[in-house]
Amino acid sequence: ETLAAVSPIACFDYALRLFQTRLRENGVAVIRRWPNEEPWVSADLVRLEQVLVNLIDNALQAMADVPEARMEVSITAEGDEVVLGVADSGPGIPDAHLRRIFEPFYTTKSPGRGLGLGLSISSRIIDDLGGSLTAANRPEGGALFTIRLPRDTGQR
Ligand code: ADP
Ligand code: MG
Repeated sequence: ETLAAVSPIACFDYALRLFQTRLRENGVAVIRRWPNEEPWVSADLVRLEQVLVNLIDNALQAMADVPEARMEVSITAEGDEVVLGVADSGPGIPDAHLRRIFEPFYTTKSPGRGLGLGLSISSRIIDDLGGSLTAANRPEGGALFTIRLPRDTGQR
């Protein structure tokens, strides 16, 4: 695994650009919460982008029938960690599913719509990068996925 100093803003920008057309067509408002000073993460650019693509794809699918869909993406520095959030205004994740969504092939989508691999691969990638990927429901509604990764301090 080759770790490098990666810009989380650049990763989000890349992933959000891929979904630009779908976001516009579905009328999804994207709220970016970036800190004044960007913390860099110790990661692998392409893998982190892939995880963000998976999370954004899930968020968009969850909000397919939701009016005034909102997606909030965030970056926060917490000590020697960087926390990346992807939140949506969809129906959230029923408690019975929360424990299982990271299992390979676990999906609640109809055949052909989801393989159930996105989250298991994503959590494996983030684990390999020395971080963690977790899911929760927000009190205000919708799901929140949180990625924690080691912060890159520039020291080598
Ligand atoms: P897939 O998207 O192919 O179903 P994933 O591993 O990406 O597989 O997700 C597994 C399951 O987790 C989904 O089928 C869905 O039930 C649940 N899930 C993932 N993201 C969300 C979300 N943002 N809101 C609600 N449920 C979600
Ligand atoms: Mg998925």
